Amino acid sequence: MFEDKFTRVLYIDLSKKSFAIKSRPDLFEKWLGGSGVGIQLLKEECPKDTDPFSPENTIIFAVGPITSLYPLASKTVAMFKSPLTGNLGESHAGGRSAVSIMMAGYGAIVIKGKSDIPIYLSIFDNEVRFHDARAIWGIKDAITVGKIIRQRETFSGQRSIMRIGRAGENLVSFASLNTETYRHFGRLGLGAVFGSKNLKALVIAGKRTINLTDPKAYLRVYKNILDETTSSLMKKYHDLGTAVNVLPLHEIGGLPIENLNKISYEGAAELSGENLAQNYLGRRIACTGCPVACVHIAAFRDPHEEEKYFYKTSMIGYDYEPIYSLGTMLGIKDAKGFLKLMDRTEKLGLDAMSSGVALAWATEMLNKNIVTESETLVKFSFGDWEKYIEGLENIVLMPNDFYKALSRGTSYASEIYGGKDFALNFGKNEMPGYHTGAATHLGWFLGARHSHLDNAGYSMDQSLKGDYPEPEKLVDNLIEEEANRQILSSLVVCFFARAIYLNFDNTINCLKTVGIDLTKEELKELGMEIYRQKMSYKTQEGWLPSHLDLPKRIFETPAPFGKISEDYMKKAIDHFRDRLEKDFR
Ligand code: SF4
Repeated sequence: MFEDKFTRVLYIDLSKKSFAIKSRPDLFEKWLGGSGVGIQLLKEECPKDTDPFSPENTIIFAVGPITSLYPLASKTVAMFKSPLTGNLGESHAGGRSAVSIMMAGYGAIVIKGKSDIPIYLSIFDNEVRFHDARAIWGIKDAITVGKIIRQRETFSGQRSIMRIGRAGENLVSFASLNTETYRHFGRLGLGAVFGSKNLKALVIAGKRTINLTDPKAYLRVYKNILDETTSSLMKKYHDLGTAVNVLPLHEIGGLPIENLNKISYEGAAELSGENLAQNYLGRRIACTGCPVACVHIAAFRDPHEEEKYFYKTSMIGYDYEPIYSLGTMLGIKDAKGFLKLMDRTEKLGLDAMSSGVALAWATEMLNKNIVTESETLVKFSFGDWEKYIEGLENIVLMPNDFYKALSRGTSYASEIYGGKDFALNFGKNEMPGYHTGAATHLGWFLGARHSHLDNAGYSMDQSLKGDYPEPEKLVDNLIEEEANRQILSSLVVCFFARAIYLNFDNTINCLKTVGIDLTKEELKELGMEIYRQKMSYKTQEGWLPSHLDLPKRIFETPAPFGKISEDYMKKAIDHFRDRLEKDFR
């Protein structure tokens, strides 16, 4: 059965500055790890109707039974109550976080309470320390915070540093938690929950070893998976990263541009993965234990203001989603402008996706004269990246009521200022970068995290090519996909490896080497049950989907296979509500 250390949960109370370690085989044996264990701990620890910024809100980090053992088993799941949606917060990140938690000897970490002063936590094996962080609270750049902590905390072993920027300190509802330098728990505002607890950072390291009962069997299974991950299947992610998607999506008309007013523009080639690689790529990096290395880092040279031939070189990570949100959605036509926006977002500790969508909405509000420059303080104009840099700063500093509202997301801001029809959020979370058809929008709206990775509707759209089944059937397919993905997020593996680990033989063989015997049917049932647990949490916290909450813009701008039918979406959402009431309460 499970190794003892993997079933340990570290409970930290920030108010009392105390901690306890408990063995919880009951949790891990039933729910595997990651999302499965995370949602149970959230239900145990976070009372119904908790205010996301109260000390009672609980942050869970959870890894999985094959973390650090197999390729791409390198993600950590974070669960919390989201200040952006007021409901389930779930965010995944890689970097070194998962392996560090595992090497420190934990399957999960639970953080509650609120410190009286800013602090950061260091966790090394069985030791937890609470350090005064007043000197690093308010530092302008989240990257610098990481450097300072790296110098102070000189543990040996696998080490991960998670920290917030000024956005998290100021409780921007979509503040991110940066881990290492280029990975993030980006979505749904975990950074703001850290900020509300006066928690600036968490550094974790450990040096344990994992004992395998049959190393030869392990090596056999490992090699099979490694061969698949280094096959052509993953090559595109290594070569150009997720930015490889820009041109194909633009070509089919699925790339949202200028607040989804357009699906075609002349900036796509400039922001493409091909152009960024040819002109800016400085290096590729990988999450620990991943041979794919999809993380692409631009080496960006900025000329010195006064000295000729002197340059400041910044290393700036980029992916498809920020290219969409901070690039095409804002009508940016030059790569330099996009990279500058990306760099500022990273330093402020903001979720790039929500930030870009919020600024796109603000621009349209200004263009339509629904708000004036006295509210936006900046004359936003699609394509003008320098103005958007000021906008990002204003979201974090909140100099007036408009920005106080915008820092709570487009759903909240449009309730106050109007413009709901083109405030592109789904379940109050700002939209990802796909306007491919009905399945993608339904998928975000109905998904537990309101994320494109919940159930990959964008991929269904592209396979269906406009030949949609009855709306009820499409919803059932999305539910089945999302339930299967709970297996991935409980193992916890990167979703880019879904084809490998949702080939159930691979997963069954991996689990056998760590002493877990599950059949395909049992795994699928477990995935569905974890999905059910999440949905019951969401309804407990007051979420019931209504087609009236969909932004009208998605019906106005044609998708690649034609305009999306409102009637089709309404029928689909009605069917989902029925299933939610009957099967998932
Ligand atoms: S494919 Fe990319 S995101 Fe996934 S584990 Fe590898 S490096 Fe990390």
